[in-house]
Amino acid sequence: MTILPPNSTIGIVGGGQLGRMIGQAASRLGYRVHVFTDQAGSSAAQITDQATVAAYDDLDAMRRFAQAVDVVTIEFENLPVEGLQAIASDVSVCPSPDVLAVCQDRLKEKQFLQSLDVPTAPFAAVSTAAELKSAITTLGAPSVLKTRRMGYDGKGQVMIQADDDLDAAWHTLRGSESVLEGFVTFEREMSVITARTADGEKASYVPVENQHEHHILAKTIAPAPIPDSQATAAVALAERIADGLDLVGIVAVEMFQTFEGDILVNELAPRPHNSGHWTIDACLVSQFEQVVRAITGLPLGAPERFADAKMDNLLGDAAEAWLDLIKQPNSRLHLYGKTPIRPGRKQGHITTLRLPTAPS
Ligand code: AMP
Repeated sequence: MTILPPNSTIGIVGGGQLGRMIGQAASRLGYRVHVFTDQAGSSAAQITDQATVAAYDDLDAMRRFAQAVDVVTIEFENLPVEGLQAIASDVSVCPSPDVLAVCQDRLKEKQFLQSLDVPTAPFAAVSTAAELKSAITTLGAPSVLKTRRMGYDGKGQVMIQADDDLDAAWHTLRGSESVLEGFVTFEREMSVITARTADGEKASYVPVENQHEHHILAKTIAPAPIPDSQATAAVALAERIADGLDLVGIVAVEMFQTFEGDILVNELAPRPHNSGHWTIDACLVSQFEQVVRAITGLPLGAPERFADAKMDNLLGDAAEAWLDLIKQPNSRLHLYGKTPIRPGRKQGHITTLRLPTAPS
């Protein structure tokens, strides 16, 4: 892959905090940043003077954007793939639209994982109430019914218990094409983030533990408190997935660790991930810089950490305590400039490092 030199323009589709932090990393390395966002004044667009504000399915706007940039990446995967496919002959799009097509559809994603022999929860495709009934007979209850598309932070999914009314459950998801998954009794949720270049070079961060509240990530603990053998196995799975996708960029692999020590992959996100925010402060090269390096053809940076860390998300009002938060020892506060503050909205995060004690 040819190297895009500094001063080239990186196009980021999506206006959220992930785009903002990719932009900040790109800008530190001397790249220009052009954000394509459907909302004026969005978090990512605030940090660059080059922004296209248009609907994500506006093909003309997407083509003009492609003309203005040297490479395109994305900051969320639920985008219309057609627009990115249309520009992929003019400009390099990383990750490729094919990767997005897999990762934005839970059924395709599960089938892809199965094709790589990556363990997942047992699952069945469900597109009618009758199929739901037969899938429950096979997978049993409890199970989790999830829409194939547009589900995130627990949206578009419903738990099904043994004596639930299946017609009512089917109705809750408004008859969307779905996947039924067997319920996994897990000891912890984890993720591994792996960056990969076009040449197949890979760099993975240590597995982290993720704690959710109301289906939204609340806290990440780096590293996850798991035996080395399991950490090695988790990283190997993530790297197999990155290779299987022929990924150029970064992928976050969300996993369940069962009480028996098995690791099951739950979900893939082919972009920087909330559970990798700690890497900005605890690693020499963050997940955001790795994306920039991967898509510009630069060598990846070292993913090793120089301190253990925990990351707390600041949801809704929690970010209003910024003046207290900024005084917390061994911590760095990150705010995303998102207005208005809404309950559950990701307004920022704070990373706290466990620094080695200074010699006396
Ligand atoms: P997802 O949207 O697939 O990431 O699911 C959101 C959250 O729901 C996960 O982080 C888990 O806490 C929980 N969850 C999802 N699928 C399952 C499952 N098959 N078994 C148990 N818990 C699940």
